Amino acid sequence: MYINGQWLSLERTFPVYNPATGERLAEVVDGGVEQAEAAIQAASAAFPAWAATTAYQRSALLYRAYELMMQRQQELARTMTSEQGKPLRAALNEVRYGADFLLWFAEEAKRMYGEIIPSARPDQRFLTQLMPVGVVAAITPWNYPVSMITRKLAPALAAGCTVVLKPAEATPLCALAMMEIFAEAGFPPGVINLVTAADPAPIGELFCTHPKVGKITFTGSTAVGRKLAQMAAPQLKRMSLELGGHAPFIVFDDADPVHAAKGATLVKFLNAGQACISPNRIYVQRGIAEPFLAAMTERVGALRVGDGMEQGVTVGPLVNEAAIDKVHRQVTDALEKGARLHVGGQRLREGGLERGHFYAPTLLSDVTPEMLIYREETFGPVAAVTVFDDPEQVLELANDTNYGLASYVYTRDIARAFRMFEGLRFGIVGINDINPTSAAAPFGGIKDSGMGREGARQGLLEYVEIKLGGFAI
Ligand code: ADP
Repeated sequence: MYINGQWLSLERTFPVYNPATGERLAEVVDGGVEQAEAAIQAASAAFPAWAATTAYQRSALLYRAYELMMQRQQELARTMTSEQGKPLRAALNEVRYGADFLLWFAEEAKRMYGEIIPSARPDQRFLTQLMPVGVVAAITPWNYPVSMITRKLAPALAAGCTVVLKPAEATPLCALAMMEIFAEAGFPPGVINLVTAADPAPIGELFCTHPKVGKITFTGSTAVGRKLAQMAAPQLKRMSLELGGHAPFIVFDDADPVHAAKGATLVKFLNAGQACISPNRIYVQRGIAEPFLAAMTERVGALRVGDGMEQGVTVGPLVNEAAIDKVHRQVTDALEKGARLHVGGQRLREGGLERGHFYAPTLLSDVTPEMLIYREETFGPVAAVTVFDDPEQVLELANDTNYGLASYVYTRDIARAFRMFEGLRFGIVGINDINPTSAAAPFGGIKDSGMGREGARQGLLEYVEIKLGGFAI
């Protein structure tokens, strides 16, 4: 752990495993409430001086961390693949995406503009200034174990906040590697603190109830996000929640079915489907359903499953046994209720895959609203296709979910593209675009997918309060 500028060890540890091989990679310090308390106190003590630094000073440190991250991208990617499982090339992409948040907010720190607002009174002047919210407690997930850290920490630090980070128990090694980078970049003691723990619940509770924590920023499941929001409510703590999703992916019959199938396969099987923006319902218009399914069957069948360290592997393992069980339960349920299986549909245990959590990339069609997969987030390598007839009705189908993170549309019709963009009740709409994400663009959801935006100009505003000055002159 890293608290108040010191590396801290405890006798109590927990193991970290490689999900592809079952190998035990390391033992990591198992912190608890006591260490989290110390980290909050350190962050709180460091806050006034950090908040008083100039934006240029904060920017320089963020920029230095960006440079170190880029220098260590290969090493970080290997750490990520070994503890999280994604193919090495995808890990490298994530490291660069993660580094981009440091660069973006190094720049954005200098644009913490206030406003001068004209008053109706001639003897009055209004101005606003942005104030950092204080100590930020950040809880990050295992599926993007590097970029979810920088996506939260970079704007918080840019704004002048200090931070306590609690990473996911499955991927603490990435967090430790990032902390080495922050320490080496020269952030003052207490500005960034790391608490690793096997049991997140007591630390989450402390974050939500501690009077010295100004803001909670969380990425993870909707169930845990809801729990944190409930615990933080009595103190009206500021919150950003980036939660689950159930993305619709709509292909109209004016689109090229082969191109759309390529896009659907790429985005669905990214990170073995373990992404909150992963398409969970693929709607294809009847006129092109056959060529679409044929192209997708071929592409899904050609994915190569294995240890992400091996060259040519495109789909890595799932995070653990529970993930395998959940995926298989959804597939079995769909097949029992009449879905058609085109490819996949089972756990993989042979050819060097015996010790990892591997599931075959799977394509189902004839998926209906009665099936679990149509409602529940899958977080695994299963593409579920539903054929539709009525282009007016598909918007209603797509919006019929409690989630509201990402959505995708394939069409060549500009008017239809606009209508869909405006009609979809989601925080993100990709129009013929399977990668509508960037450090420069606001990422986030509505409804059960959470609140707040990460990245972009808006990402910085999550970590500030607006102070109004009224001057009678
Ligand atoms: P997933 O189901 O994708 O693992 P979680 O919401 O369980 O998502 O995990 C995301 C992050 O939330 C991880 O850092 C995890 O340790 C943390 N977490 C899980 N349960 C709690 C809890 N009760 N309180 C605080 N944090 C939690």
